[in-house]
Amino acid sequence: MSQPQRIPRAEHNISRDNIDDNALKVLYRLHRAGYRALLVGGGVRDLLLNHSPKDFDVATDARPEEVKKLFSNCRLIGRRFRLAHVFYGREIIEVATFRASHDDASDGQQDQSGRILRDNVYGDIDDDVWRRDFTVNALYYDIADFSVIDYMGAMEDIQKRQLRLIGDPQTRYREDPVRMLRAIRFAAKLDFSIHEDTEKPIFELAPLLADIPPARLYEEVLKLFHSGYGLKCLKLLEHYQLLQYIFPHAYHGLLSGDESFRKFLHLALQSTDQRVNEGKPITPAFLFSAMLWKAVNVYAEQYRTQGATPSQAMHQAISDALGQQVQITSIPRRFSTVVRDIWYMQHRFQNRHGRRARSLLQHNKFRAAYDFMCLRGQAGEFDDDSCEWWTRIQTLSYEQQELLLNPARAKPKSSPKKASQKKNRAE
Ligand code: ATP
Ligand code: MG
Repeated sequence: MSQPQRIPRAEHNISRDNIDDNALKVLYRLHRAGYRALLVGGGVRDLLLNHSPKDFDVATDARPEEVKKLFSNCRLIGRRFRLAHVFYGREIIEVATFRASHDDASDGQQDQSGRILRDNVYGDIDDDVWRRDFTVNALYYDIADFSVIDYMGAMEDIQKRQLRLIGDPQTRYREDPVRMLRAIRFAAKLDFSIHEDTEKPIFELAPLLADIPPARLYEEVLKLFHSGYGLKCLKLLEHYQLLQYIFPHAYHGLLSGDESFRKFLHLALQSTDQRVNEGKPITPAFLFSAMLWKAVNVYAEQYRTQGATPSQAMHQAISDALGQQVQITSIPRRFSTVVRDIWYMQHRFQNRHGRRARSLLQHNKFRAAYDFMCLRGQAGEFDDDSCEWWTRIQTLSYEQQELLLNPARAKPKSSPKKASQKKNRAE
């Protein structure tokens, strides 16, 4: 074990002013009770880089049961390893007891490919540091003297803006293949390069992602694409040949050389990134409908050539595409129903008349489907004025809309009040 480097308060830029009040409370209470109390992980890394951290994780030598005794607002979670969650309103501070790395623990906890199945052996801080993934994620901020503890040469990596796995990269990816996706995510978010030794095994070990449970991959996919750096993540996933293991349909769509699909996907991810950065709400449904859009069309076309009606073909294509994707990443039903809505609505934008167009306007997922359609237009998938027309009609009063939808009829049939009541019911 190498000697850790202690960077005193005067020599780093982490100020308590930038640490969340509740995280500080947890650190101080643990410290006063005689335990070690440190911030670790993304919080320390981001503060050193002058980013604002997403969350603050605490590491301690107190056992979970001891943490629970100190905090009335605390719940223990996790089966594989127990963690303490300390609640402050909607905020959760996660407190993890130092754990030993797999090497120090007893046998029988890895599968054949080296994947860690169990790593719940408690240890000290100098054990804990080895189980972390990248050096820059293994920095500790000690509340005892406000110093930063660096076991791994992480400060140098921060300076060089590079991600480097702790230990032997092959082994670390085999233990947990999701680390390959984490490398991509941090490279995109921090604008770091991936150290040569850390990036090399990715190309060979990428297929190990096939063994990751769909629920975990779903969580990781959201972190990749809802981070505000989704487009950059896509490009890196393509570069490192990882995309096929999380979105095979999109991978094949991009590989096919269909430039309008590439443009569409880039625009869709760009628009999500922009929304994230503006603090606007986003939905996984939009991500999945964009990623699988090309496949749905290819499948539907195949069914039509086999004699299916357009609506049968679409129906079958949608269930094929979603059925295949959920074997890789789960998609919660509340989102997959919206994915279907967005897709089914696409052809309805061609109809600008009468009740059908009115009911499209009043559909509770109209906005998502409309955004999706405009991106398709912008990408050159069609060249009519659908986006402009549906943009304009939303700016009109109910009566003006009626004139446009039913040019033959001069008088509107129902009053705007009635229409808005109908809309509320639909929602
Ligand atoms: P962010 O929260 O900004 O996404 P983070 O680095 O805090 O990034 P988390 O997923 O919150 O990432 O994990 C907290 C810390 O736990 C990491 O910094 C790392 O030290 C450790 N960690 C998380 N996942 C893994 C993993 N798969 N393998 C090894 N260590 C991990
Ligand atoms: Mg974190």
